[in-house]
This record gives sequence, structure tokens and C-alpha cells, in this order.
Amino acid sequence: ANAATNDVCPARGGYALYTGGQEQECTRRISLMGDFRQAIEQNELLLYCQPKVDIASRRVCGAEALVRWQHHVHGMLPTIEFIKLAENAGLITPLTHWMLDAVFSQSYAWHEAGIEQALSVNLSAHDLYDPMLVDRIQGLFSTWNVNPELIQFELTESTLMEEPSIALETLTKLKKLGTRLFIDDFGTGYSSLSYLQKLPVDSIKIDQSFVMPMEADNDSAVIVRSTIELGHNLGLEVVAEGVDNQVVWNLLATLECDVAQGYLIGMPMPAEQFSDWEDKWVRMSV
Ligand code: C2E
Ligand code: MG
Ligand code: MG
Ligand code: MG
Repeated sequence: ANAATNDVCPARGGYALYTGGQEQECTRRISLMGDFRQAIEQNELLLYCQPKVDIASRRVCGAEALVRWQHHVHGMLPTIEFIKLAENAGLITPLTHWMLDAVFSQSYAWHEAGIEQALSVNLSAHDLYDPMLVDRIQGLFSTWNVNPELIQFELTESTLMEEPSIALETLTKLKKLGTRLFIDDFGTGYSSLSYLQKLPVDSIKIDQSFVMPMEADNDSAVIVRSTIELGHNLGLEVVAEGVDNQVVWNLLATLECDVAQGYLIGMPMPAEQFSDWEDKWVRMSV
């Protein structure tokens, strides 16, 4: 295997895009990443969004922007898997740029349609090393004239741990633009409290691996409860992701978790469907 092959096929395994022999699998990943370079130009990427709601009031408080890849041959590809491939192949920067363009133009379209909802963009570790990232975002704010409060960023705990000083620097700049920052997949990254306390973040999102089983598994319930307390003690808003049933919603309400996101509330959907979803949600909530 040459260096390029190793790059795209790390010995991590776990990808389920295709089944087949290991060598065949590697060849497919490489060709898929070749396709990915063109996917952007051929309009194969789609912006989906998944609602977030305030638990106490049931008010809609934004949506997470999630990329989808509708491959011309293979159909819709699992996001988590092609994101990992793109990260390993050094292709996250063009993806992030595409996403930022899509999110700003969507935010503008929503504004024109009278919808004032925040959209949060997921950033990968590699984005933090992109010296042009903050300038690009600043440029998009002036181009689209979007309210800074309506564009948010999500960074996983492990992304923030990779290069703490660069993370702090980039987050500080993003915060200066007036955006809201989330620590994503909280609880999975082993970060130290003293480090977290230094970061200019507004919210933490408790990872779905703790939220989903909390109804049946006492350890998960304890982790969720202490994370909510911790977040509140640090003055942060707490979001639970992966809320997929009413029992979990009720538990989170009792624990005074602030915001919920998950299949119970709404699946990720094309941005054009958001306002229909919102109408239904409001009707269900009265
Ligand atoms: P994430 O940021 O933690 O996003 C939440 C994921 O959980 C989404 O998967 C969402 O569909 C899923 N989810 C939400 N609620 C539920 C639920 O109730 N049940 C279940 N089973 N799943 C739920 P998705 O869209 O496949 O994205 C997976 C990951 O890919 C994201 O995790 C994020 O890390 C990454 N990702 C997605 N879009 C982007 C992007 O534009 N840029 C970057 N860098 N990463 C992205
Ligand atoms: Mg996220
Ligand atoms: Mg998450
Ligand atoms: Mg997650």
C-alpha cells in the first residue's frame, strides 16, 4: 500500500459503506473520495436540518445543519462514514466551505420568508487549522447580511482537545463575530473541566449515547443528570441530542435540561420542509 492508500484507509475499520474484501473496500473508498471532489460541483451535496426545541416552553430554538450526499450511483450515503473518509483524505475544507455557503444562503432565504431560526454548522478539527476560516465566515456575514446570532457552530469535545491552543484561538475569533458556540458529543472526549472552563462556549450537547439509554440504564441517567448540573453550574445551556421517545423527554424536563434534539421532535429534513414541520410542531404543542 502506498502513502495515499494509507491515508484513505486507516486501520480503524468500522465503515459499513460497502461489504467485500479489504482490498476491494480500500479501492472503493479511494474512488468514493475521488467522486467526493466532484460531488460538490455536481450538486450532489444537500443541506438537511434537524430542529432543536426548548424543553420547558416547547419553542423551536434553531436547527442543526447536517450534510447529505446523494451519490449519482450509490444513492444516499451514510453521513458519519463519508465525513470520516473526507477527514482522513484531507477533504474537509471544501466540504465546510460548501456547507457554510449553503447555510448562509438558507439563512437568508428563511429570513426573506419570515423564518428567524438559527442554524448550527458542524466543524471538524481540520477546520480549526484553516487560517482562512474566520475571514471566510466574516465575508459571508457581510455578503448575506445575516444576524450573527442566527449562525452557530458545533465542535466536538475531541476536536477541541486535539490542539487546545488553536481551538481556543479560533473559538475566540468566532465568538467575536457574535456567533453562538456548542461543544458537541459532550461526554465522549475526556476533556478536563479546567480546559472547558476557559473556552468561550455557550452550550454543551450531551452525546446521544448517554441520552438514548437513560430511561433503562441508571449509569447513563446519572451521567446525563450530572452533565446538566455541571453545564448549569458553568453558566452554560444544556442540549440533549438523540431524544427519540417521550419517556426520555419527560426525564430531561424533570432534570431541567434546556433544549432537546432528536427523532421524537423531528428527523433531519431538507431545509425547505422546515416550515411545514414547524407548523405541525406548533399545532401539536397547543
Ligand atoms: P452530530 O453533529 O452529533 O449530529 C447528530 C447526529 O445524530 C445526526 O446524524 C442526526 O441525524 C443523528 N440523530 C439526531 N437525533 C437522533 C435520534 O433521535 N436518533 C438517532 N438514532 N440519531 C439521531 P448524521 O446527520 O448522520 O450526522 C452524523 C455526524 O456527522 C454528525 O454528528 C457530525 O459529527 C457529522 N456531520 C454531519 N454534517 C456535517 C458537516 O456538515 N460537517 C462536518 N464536519 N460534520 C458533519
Ligand atoms: Mg453536531
Ligand atoms: Mg452531536
Ligand atoms: Mg453525535
